[in-house]
Amino acid sequence: MTDAGQDSPRRAREPIALLGGTFDPVHYGHLRLADDVRNALGFREVRLVPSATPPHRAPAQASGDDRVAMLDLAVRDFPGLVVDTREIARGGRSYTVDTLERLRAEVGGRPLALLLGADAFRGLPSWHRFRELFDLAHLIVVPRPGLVLEDALPPELAAQWRARRVTSPEALRAAPAGSIYVQPVTPNPISSTQIRNAVTSGEAKSIAALVPPQVLAYIESHRLYSQPTGTDTHRTHAS
Ligand code: ATP
Ligand code: MG
Repeated sequence: MTDAGQDSPRRAREPIALLGGTFDPVHYGHLRLADDVRNALGFREVRLVPSATPPHRAPAQASGDDRVAMLDLAVRDFPGLVVDTREIARGGRSYTVDTLERLRAEVGGRPLALLLGADAFRGLPSWHRFRELFDLAHLIVVPRPGLVLEDALPPELAAQWRARRVTSPEALRAAPAGSIYVQPVTPNPISSTQIRNAVTSGEAKSIAALVPPQVLAYIESHRLYSQPTGTDTHRTHAS
């Protein structure tokens, strides 16, 4: 990584934003979310960070190499999105807190910002060392269709929400970590589960608008998701 402390002061305050996930496979929901947040907040880049073994959900169906290959193909059309393979390279369980700790050691006091869909945000209290996440990064929460963000948050998360919620994005540059900011984006009701299921049932054509064409071509040529595995669930990604 090259963006440590020797950069200009302005650059040094620009948050490094991360979107973690299984990306099994990546789809336009992920890509537009990351791109919209990047544009709305004026970030130079957003890193997509595929997990190796997600701790609290079924393992990915596609291999890490295939998921990275699809991400690499997908970000070609999205300048400003980059693929960060550190969790795949590390292997084992991918705890976001470990990833953020390592990144923090690399970037010094530069702000870090973790992008989370509202579904992932709600599941946060089950993440490994969840309170420490706020010491390491800001959270940027993106509403997902069908979920009212503030309704029935788990109590320990509601407390964090009350203490840390900011309404000005300047807070994301003013400190290295610790705020929760909500960034609405145009909803894209797409899930990887839906894509895997369509491919498994021989209906890959029906998802042509949901993933970049080069990703669909990769899925077909590598025969990904052609077998049902019984691992498809809508469980929340919790790392
Ligand atoms: P699966 O169906 O396998 O759970 P998914 O589509 O939910 O996959 P993940 O890899 O689990 O994708 O999601 C990674 C991150 O992207 C999470 O923070 C999730 O909330 C967010 N996300 C996924 N899809 C969308 C979408 N369509 N719109 C907004 N955020 C999304
Ligand atoms: Mg999910």
